[in-house]
Amino acid sequence: MGRVALVTGGTRGIGRAIAVGLRDAGYRVVANYFGNVEAAKRFTEETGIPNYRFDVSCYSECEAGVQKIASDIGPIEVLVNNAGITRDSTLHRMTYEQWEDVVQTNLTSCFNLARVCIESMRDRGFGRIVNIGSINGQAGQYGQVNYAAAKSGIHGFTKALAQEGAAKGITVNAIAPGYVDTDMVRAVPHTVLEKIIAKIPAGRLGRAEDIARGVTFLVADDADFITGTTLSINGGQHMY
Ligand code: NDP
Repeated sequence: MGRVALVTGGTRGIGRAIAVGLRDAGYRVVANYFGNVEAAKRFTEETGIPNYRFDVSCYSECEAGVQKIASDIGPIEVLVNNAGITRDSTLHRMTYEQWEDVVQTNLTSCFNLARVCIESMRDRGFGRIVNIGSINGQAGQYGQVNYAAAKSGIHGFTKALAQEGAAKGITVNAIAPGYVDTDMVRAVPHTVLEKIIAKIPAGRLGRAEDIARGVTFLVADDADFITGTTLSINGGQHMY
């Protein structure tokens, strides 16, 4: 039987493509979500992948969610921390809530889920963790001090945890996507988006499947010597 993989925010956008890519590669995949019940229902009907509703920014919900998955399907061997949000504003207008929501959902979520999965991964001597960062965590972005800080934090988190996991068969890597055609990017004004695309050497936005391909590569059993790295998938927009 395939390894059990949890994709957070796996019912829409990039997460959906990651979940489907892993399913097609033979993993037993479960997808988490939080707010959009309709999208999750549709996702499960279309893909056959079960969905689990819990808030990745809340430690106790993550603990309960992971326990439920373990008893329904099995212990999580592959964790993809993909769930994320934006709450854009320049710093002089940003509220504390905008800061906190983004840091909790994008960065603290990685702690929450890695923490509740790590002991069983250590016991089993196998684990794969992929954290989804962002080009804007590497390069910064006007109007996104909250998001850039959270995503940049993911890259440090990844390198530190990779050092702790290596001797236990656990690899920890990050992917830094460029601009990918999902609901998150469709919320960007059209004129701004045109300017962004003009700066992408590949001449297009990324597709969710471009990112999923990187995840499937990093979580493979024989990718065991690849750890602590960040794979930038951005059409050449930013070379880090
Ligand atoms: P979407 O907005 O399309 O989807 C986000 C997913 O995360 C949804 O499934 C959503 O669930 C879930 N989610 C949000 N908050 C929570 C929460 N508190 N608990 C559980 N699940 C939650 O985003 P994308 O697919 O565009 O982005 C996916 C990841 O990639 C994010 O981390 C994002 O920051 C990153 N990224 C995206 C880029 C892009 O250009 N799109 C570029 C670089 C990085 P629900 O459906 O219930 O709302």
